[in-house]
This record gives sequence, structure tokens and C-alpha cells, in this order.
Amino acid sequence: MHPAQPELDPTAKPPVVELVQVHKSFNVGEPTEVEVLHGIDLVLRSGEFVAVMGPSGSGKSTLLNIVGLLDRPTQGQLKINGIETTTLADHALTQLRGRSIGFVFQYHHLIGAFSTLENVMLPMVGLQGYPTSAIEKRALELIDSVGLLQWRDTPATRLSGGQQQRVAVARALIMQPTLLLADEPTGNLDTKSADAVFELFRQVNRAHGTAVLLVTHNPLLAGRCDRTIQVIDGMVPR
Ligand code: ADP
Ligand code: MG
Repeated sequence: MHPAQPELDPTAKPPVVELVQVHKSFNVGEPTEVEVLHGIDLVLRSGEFVAVMGPSGSGKSTLLNIVGLLDRPTQGQLKINGIETTTLADHALTQLRGRSIGFVFQYHHLIGAFSTLENVMLPMVGLQGYPTSAIEKRALELIDSVGLLQWRDTPATRLSGGQQQRVAVARALIMQPTLLLADEPTGNLDTKSADAVFELFRQVNRAHGTAVLLVTHNPLLAGRCDRTIQVIDGMVPR
């Protein structure tokens, strides 16, 4: 079986992510290389919400960083929205990432001194063709949708962990990505906040068909995704 075979199901949604035999090695001091991903095949379609599980150190973050164009495979092919990325120059890769992919990490990477509004606007500030007023309008709609309107001017450091993660979700969505990647976004949260953050992903997925790849150790959350893939020792067993 090859994942790049011709489309058999005419009703299938277009693939957002296509990996064919992706390998990743890291240089751990010349001349030693360690291979961490050993030939991953994966297709994620528009509208799909997929959980990624697997033991610590199995390669989940490495996989997400590659799918998110933060790192490059050492071998194999990776298409995002049908575009082959492995041959793209760095600036083209950055551009594709910026307009197609939103990220949420376990630690939110917000700017502490910036307000909710400033953090959410940040990915769009300085982009050509978007006046500040338009960016602010879009940011405020998102902040409203994650339930933080009354904290719009509060610096990130003054928010709770769950609130900070909701800001991170809003920020990840400001460019209206077709793909949302989340690496243990609820790992640091209490059950109730984790649930609220998970529900945000679900809402975005249902409302806009945004494809979601969510790394989680929580079997209850994984059970609420459309399907789960397991990463075991750098492979995705079928
Ligand atoms: P997971 O997210 O499933 O816990 P990771 O993808 O973070 O796993 O790591 C998988 C393996 O790759 C681990 O053995 C880790 O030490 C190794 N690794 C990850 N990033 C690097 C790197 N930049 N350099 C060397 N080894 C790395
Ligand atoms: Mg990880």
C-alpha cells in the first residue's frame, strides 16, 4: 500500500498533510547521527481531527515540527495543501507556514508583558495589506470566541494557565490556518481548563473544517478525536 496512490473515493476531502516515507535524523556531535523518525506515512484531510499518542521520546514532537515546517525531514516527501515542501527554499517554507499553519505548544510562548489583544495580533502585525484596525477586529472576534473579551487588555502574566492557553489558541488562529498543530496543549492544565481548550479545537474544526493534529497523553481527549495515530519508536504502525 502506498498513501500516494490515485484517489479512489471521490467524496474524500482534499489532503492537507501528506507524508511519504519521512525520516528524520539529528546530528548529535559529528560524525554521529541518530535517526528518530524511521519512514512515516501519514495523510490528514481537511476537516479531520486526529490525536497523536505514544510514549515519551517516541518522536511525536519531532513529527509535529516537521509537519509544521519548523524542521525539515532528512528523507521523504511532505506536502502541505498539495504543495511539495521538501524542495522549497527557507523563505518559501516560512511563507507557507505563516499562511497555512497554526501552532499551540504545551508552554504557550506568549509574551508576558503583552496584553491578550497584543499577543493575538502579533502574527499579523506588519503584514502587507492588513491595516492595524482590520487585524484588531479579527483578533477581538477570536478573543471573544475563546471567552476572554473582558481580559483583552490584561498582560499575559496576569492570566491563569488555562486562560493563557486560550490566548495561544486564538493567536494560532489569527491567520485562519487550514492546519492546526497542537503539541500537548493541555498537558499543563487542570481537567476543566484542559476540557475547555480541547472544546475550542473541536469548535474550530467543526466550524471551519480546520484539520487538527493534537498530541496528547490523555486517552479521554484522544477518544473524542476522529481517530488516533500511535507513534512508537519513530514509526506509525498500521
Ligand atoms: P516525544 O515528543 O514523543 O516525547 P521527541 O520527538 O521530542 O519525542 O523526541 C524523540 C527523540 O528524538 C528523543 O530521543 C529525543 O531525545 C530526540 N531528539 C529530539 N530532538 C532532538 C534534537 N534536536 N537533537 C537530537 N536529538 C533529538
Ligand atoms: Mg513531545
